[in-house]
Amino acid sequence: MTKQKKDKTKLRGKSICVFCGASQHVALHFFELANECGKTIAENGYNMVYGGGSTGLMGTAALAAHHAGGKVLGIIPKFLTEIEVLLETIEHIVVDDMHERKRLMYEKSDAFIVLPGGIGTLEEAVEIMSWMRLHLHAKPIIFVDTDGYWKPLMDLLHHTIASNFSPTWVKGHLLHETTPAAALKRIQSHWDNPPNKGEIQISDKIVKI
Ligand code: AMP
Repeated sequence: MTKQKKDKTKLRGKSICVFCGASQHVALHFFELANECGKTIAENGYNMVYGGGSTGLMGTAALAAHHAGGKVLGIIPKFLTEIEVLLETIEHIVVDDMHERKRLMYEKSDAFIVLPGGIGTLEEAVEIMSWMRLHLHAKPIIFVDTDGYWKPLMDLLHHTIASNFSPTWVKGHLLHETTPAAALKRIQSHWDNPPNKGEIQISDKIVKI
């Protein structure tokens, strides 16, 4: 078992985690969205938590938040510090593995914004949604794109509900916006009025939360 390092990083106020792609080879409008997202988070006084790298949308969002005066925390596993080029100028924690990275990102954040990304982004977004579905957290998760990038995933998630693999109440948690500003409004309203909790029903046993 790996020994847990002491995390001395304290974030004051609310923190928003941004999941997004690390690829450099995507269209310009994706980078523009990442830039706007980082800037909007900082200008609204929130901290930004992210994967710690400088490549792709990740680096763009982090630098935009940093340059707008926001507090940014990157969390990156040791083996990715070269591949995803650790953003040294921004506060960061280097962890042992992907699991620790995700655990810390989840713990330190009060909400999640999912920008366009690849398999890694999908994995993080779906995991945090599955924890919401099991009531392990009640933090808002908002998918943001300007071009319908997430529509196939939204359709698939609705399909799991229509087919009774996911409970109907999850529908109220499938949130999608086309601008970071609208996403922040959604997040704020979720914080102000948390939606009703559903119930956990996996076997025949229904547990009211
Ligand atoms: P991608 O969307 O594939 O460009 O990946 C976006 C970010 O997710 C990158 O920083 C990846 O290192 C990260 N990532 C990929 N898979 C995982 C995983 N299983 N756990 C945590 N982070 C991951």
